[in-house]
Parts: sequence; structure tokens; C-alpha cells
Amino acid sequence: MSLLESRFQSFCARLISHTLATACIACQAFQAKTLCDACTEIISNEGLFNYECCSLCGTPLETAELVSQHCYSCLAEPPYFDTTLCLDRYDGILQNALHELKYHRRVAFAHGLADAWNIFMAQEGINSDASFLLPVPLSAEKLCSRGFNQAWEISRRIQCGHHIQKLPNALKRRHHEQVQAQASRTQRSQAIHEMFYLEKNYLKQLQNKNIIVFDDVMTTGATLNEIARILKDNGATRVMNWVVLRTPRPKLSRAQYV
Ligand SMILES: [Zn+2]
Ligand SMILES: [Zn+2]
Repeated sequence: MSLLESRFQSFCARLISHTLATACIACQAFQAKTLCDACTEIISNEGLFNYECCSLCGTPLETAELVSQHCYSCLAEPPYFDTTLCLDRYDGILQNALHELKYHRRVAFAHGLADAWNIFMAQEGINSDASFLLPVPLSAEKLCSRGFNQAWEISRRIQCGHHIQKLPNALKRRHHEQVQAQASRTQRSQAIHEMFYLEKNYLKQLQNKNIIVFDDVMTTGATLNEIARILKDNGATRVMNWVVLRTPRPKLSRAQYV
């Protein structure tokens, strides 16, 4: 490439980035990236991946839990999944972007959230020994009303090694009455029992494989635990959760965990 061609290409790239300038998904600053440098710095310093978290459910550990590397809840009742990787806290700077995506149907925010994931988590996708990535599905009814599945819209854009195949249709969800967000862990666990199933065509493919389950938010972990149970019941070897935002766990005393 000649110097002239190179300069012309560089000029075109600058022109495109200015004419197609976007807004930062976190602070709405008008600039060229979906996540501005200042917000990238904030997540770099405060993202959940910086903290000592439970190796099973991804929640930040309290001091007394550091030795075991597991939270009291997972020690008392080990989940079916094997690991959980979270980008940030639910109450961090990406919460509004996720709300814009889910509740205002601004699908462009899925690009920004995937970009945020890729900035900090791309290496996880390259190093992972998983064979498949399954987004947590919506029921057909919910998909009709929302128009898209936010977990798939984000996960389809995240960077993974070529060895990881993304399967948006392997896991299915039956329609159930809405479970209240403030419902207790036990109530939610009962409500989601038998909510998910695997498409017959994929059963053989998933056997003896390591599988990533991708979700936008993890709250109690009951949904992801039920999915992991079904995957393990159908022969999956390991199940790893990848989650964009993790809600803080309720303030419980140790006596309530054990
Ligand atoms: Zn910003
Ligand atoms: Zn845990």
C-alpha cells in the first residue's frame, strides 16, 4: 500500500468515526466509541472481575469466605453449575444500558454491552475449554412481546474462540407466570422447575461437552442452576455461567446461610 493510499484510508476511518459518532452506553458522552475511555477506566477499576468472588456463583466474597473461595450459600447448597464469570455489578455504570436494551427495545445497546464484554473478557472466550455457548432463552410468548432475546443479542456479538459454537436454539423455555423479582429463592426455584428443556436435535451434540450459559443478569442464580441441572442431567460435563451484570446478594447473616 502506498503512503497516499494509507493516508487516504486513515482519513476515511477518521471521517467515518466522526460522521457516525455514537454515544457512550454508560454516560451518554457523544464520541466515537460505544464505551468511552472514562467509563472503560471505571469498569477496569471497579468491574466485578477485579474482586475475589465465589468460584461457583460469582458473588463477591466476604472476608470469612475467602479461605474456601466459596460463599456460604454455595457451601450450604452447592449449585449444579461449575463456575460463574461476571463483568460487573448490577448497580454499576452499565445498568442503564441494559435497561435501555430490555425495556426500551434499543437493540443498539446490545452492541455496546458486547463491546464492554469484549474489552475485558475476550481472553476468557479464547482460553475457555467450552464447546458451546447457549444464551438463556425467553419463552415464545415473551419473545413475541419483546421482539428479541437480550441474552442472545449480546452473546451473538461477543468474541469467542472458533472452537466455541453459539447455539441460540438448543435451550428452550416454557411460558410461566411472571415470577416476582422480590420473590424468595425458594419461591423462584419452585417456579422455574421444569421451565427449561433441550431441543431433541441437540441432545447428542451436547453430551460430554463443556457448555457456557450466557445471561444478561444473574440474581439468585436459581434460573442458571435449573439450566445447569438440565444440561448435566442430559450428559454435559461442565457448565459455566457467563453473566454481564450480577446483583448483590441479600444481606443474610451466616446463621441464615447454614
Ligand atoms: Zn462513558
Ligand atoms: Zn457462591
